[in-house]
Amino acid sequence: MPFWVVFNGIDLIEIVTALVLFFFTGMSITAGYHRLWSHKTYDAHPIVKVVLAIGGAMAVQNSILHWSSDHRVHHRHVDVNDKDPYSAKKGFWFSHIGWMLREYQAERYSDYSNCRDLQKDKVVMWQHNYYLPIVLIANFGITGILGWLNGDVIGMILIAGVARLVAVHHVTFFINSLAHIWGKRPYTDTNTARDNGILAFFTFGEGYHNYHHIFEYDYRNGIHWWQYDPTKWLIKTLSWFGLTSNLRKTPEERIEKAKLQMQLKYAKRTLVNLPNADEVVARVQKEYDLLVHKMSEYYSAKKKLMADKRKDIQASVDKLEIDFKYKELKQAFMLQREKWHSLYEYYMTPVSA
Ligand SMILES: [Zn+2]
Ligand SMILES: [Zn+2]
Repeated sequence: MPFWVVFNGIDLIEIVTALVLFFFTGMSITAGYHRLWSHKTYDAHPIVKVVLAIGGAMAVQNSILHWSSDHRVHHRHVDVNDKDPYSAKKGFWFSHIGWMLREYQAERYSDYSNCRDLQKDKVVMWQHNYYLPIVLIANFGITGILGWLNGDVIGMILIAGVARLVAVHHVTFFINSLAHIWGKRPYTDTNTARDNGILAFFTFGEGYHNYHHIFEYDYRNGIHWWQYDPTKWLIKTLSWFGLTSNLRKTPEERIEKAKLQMQLKYAKRTLVNLPNADEVVARVQKEYDLLVHKMSEYYSAKKKLMADKRKDIQASVDKLEIDFKYKELKQAFMLQREKWHSLYEYYMTPVSA
């Protein structure tokens, strides 16, 4: 490819085509293989499924069935070296690409018993049975025709086919390697998965991998609106046109609880080194308990309010009272949360002399 570019040049159409196919095939993996089929975080219209199945085959990462089977094992036995197919505990190289270069788990190769649901999906089985022809036609056919239209078949195949494929491979592989090595663990530390905004930029939003490993049935990986997660935006946008449905989200309370638990854990770990550790830890624990209490009060009031809204309660006095109570609890929770955050910041920010 570099030789071709040096001797024959490269044009803008080839670069744009490569970029478009980079996003199309990469996001067929993240939105299709990963969030739709492996984790069933939403439902999709058959047309969307076919497009994602073709895009996924074009990314050359094995069939949906095989990929999802591996991936479900990865979640179930994450970091267990002899079970997790791309265990990060075996190092960067192995989890990135080494696991594919030899048959490490040959006995499991055609065992799809953890994907019985997918075996009932016609699109999945069609793609599995005709995997190789789809791969060849998609990769050489599409780029070949585009190259012919552009007046340079080989150039297009090399740039929008081969070079694009290498790029998509490595950004996807980063999710198994770097996203288990580099970043923060705000939601859980029971596995190696990390949250990393920089990585999210290169992985179509999959860099928020710590969140993903604890709440794998959420269609989002970056849960805040400002977090770069184009896969989430694609799924959401398609839902406005009825092309995706039943987008699953983790209840806010559970997310918040997981995060707080980790903060308490990190705080305690840091505070034991203080001379007055017992006293400080007791204070932090007290504020934490208070916060958890206020939080569950607030969320149960919220739940009640939502349920009442659905029932459309007519008794306005009752309604006013519930509304008032809800607002009160919300304010108490917000205040306590602010207090907790400033306490946390105070103890966790290293004091520079
Ligand atoms: Zn996953
Ligand atoms: Zn992972």
